[in-house]
Amino acid sequence: MNGFVIIGASYAGVHAALAARESGYDGPIRLVADEPHLPYQRPPLSKAYLAADAAPETLVLRGADVFAGKGIELVLGARAEAIDPATRRISLTGGDRVDFDHLLIATGSRARRLPIEGQDRDGVLSLRTLDDAHELRPRLRAASDVVVIGGGFIGLEVASTAAKAGKSVTVIEAAPRLLGRAVAPAISQYLLDLHRGHGVDIRLETGITRIDAGAGAGESHVVVLSNGERLRADFVLVGVGGIANQELALDAGLACDNGIVVDEVGRTTAPGIYAAGDCSQHHNIWAGRRLRLESVQHATDQGRAVGLAVAGKEEPYTSVPRFWSDQYDAKLQMVGLADPRDDAVIRGNIADGRFSVFRYRDARLVAVDSINRPGDQMIARRLIGAGRSPTREQAADTAFDLKTLEAAP
Ligand code: FAD
Repeated sequence: MNGFVIIGASYAGVHAALAARESGYDGPIRLVADEPHLPYQRPPLSKAYLAADAAPETLVLRGADVFAGKGIELVLGARAEAIDPATRRISLTGGDRVDFDHLLIATGSRARRLPIEGQDRDGVLSLRTLDDAHELRPRLRAASDVVVIGGGFIGLEVASTAAKAGKSVTVIEAAPRLLGRAVAPAISQYLLDLHRGHGVDIRLETGITRIDAGAGAGESHVVVLSNGERLRADFVLVGVGGIANQELALDAGLACDNGIVVDEVGRTTAPGIYAAGDCSQHHNIWAGRRLRLESVQHATDQGRAVGLAVAGKEEPYTSVPRFWSDQYDAKLQMVGLADPRDDAVIRGNIADGRFSVFRYRDARLVAVDSINRPGDQMIARRLIGAGRSPTREQAADTAFDLKTLEAAP
């Protein structure tokens, strides 16, 4: 028996391994990971971990003893180079080969690069991994001027961490609003005001032409904007989105379309081979279409669905999508998936920094974005999951207890 082999030891890979074992799979399980570290949590890399001197051990997802205790072998620092679906074998850098009965590709995503001159300069950084954070942290401490390219989650979280540390921060965003594809307009506006209130210079609808070397001593980089303006930076953080690590699957002949195409339990188009997490593309029942998600919840739950399938206990992956972000004292949480055409009802008080935006498609509640209202998130998750919708009037009325809708027949 060759067992269950998993490429990539992060949320999707680890949860698949644990779910398979905990659901009775008794064959060998191997997690093959190119990073040398024990599997770790990524979200703190742009938040608390970047701000403080915390040790890497504080990020560990599961200790080595947990994997050992469950008979899950960790093969760290090993990169998978190729998959042969016909012989059910993967090859690692250096020539080693590993045979499998079931394979999970959980290779995640990587940072998108900017197609501009200067992208490769020392000090033009992206943030995906623990090693990236270890490079960024001392640079952040030493910097006085920081330029962030991209007003997405990672860019805004780094901007928040840098501004809190007293740095002069400029964020350059090409779109007309922050987090435009991910959150309701009221949330974009709130975060814009919040950042500006903390002294961050946010430029919307602004492009970058190139990144030059600084002119003299102490001037590290100059970011040249599309309007010709030149911004000095000690380092530049590029956060312009992620790209699925799907090349292994493509080369092996598996269907890919902005992610490795999978079904409701994570099966790819090749027998015995699954994909999950950031690298996969699935039909999401809440969106009603195929898409690729990048979130801890998605990687964890889809990974778990694969683990169950490998153990012979198939359960389709149907979780309501969730995401969160921390910026200053704002806890942003999102549940469900909205379209730009969905309309919005505000619950709570924007001025107090405690409000939710309920998104409706006709009479149906499809998503809720909240700032510092975790209670709304908990109930919204259950309501959306059960297909129950408050009326718009009930959603807007903070005196109305949304929990009563759960009890309704
Ligand atoms: P990944 O976590 O990307 O891990 C894939 C692993 O596979 C990596 O270790 C990679 O090196 C390895 N790998 C790739 N190719 C190979 C190969 N050929 N051989 C061996 N190994 C390979 N999500 C949230 O929900 N909330 C947040 O607040 C949040 N904050 C984030 C902050 C940062 C800085 C980052 C980078 C991400 C954040 N995310 C957040 C997103 C979340 O971390 C990802 O969606 C999640 O990590 C995806 O898990 P995964 O298992 O699919 O892949």
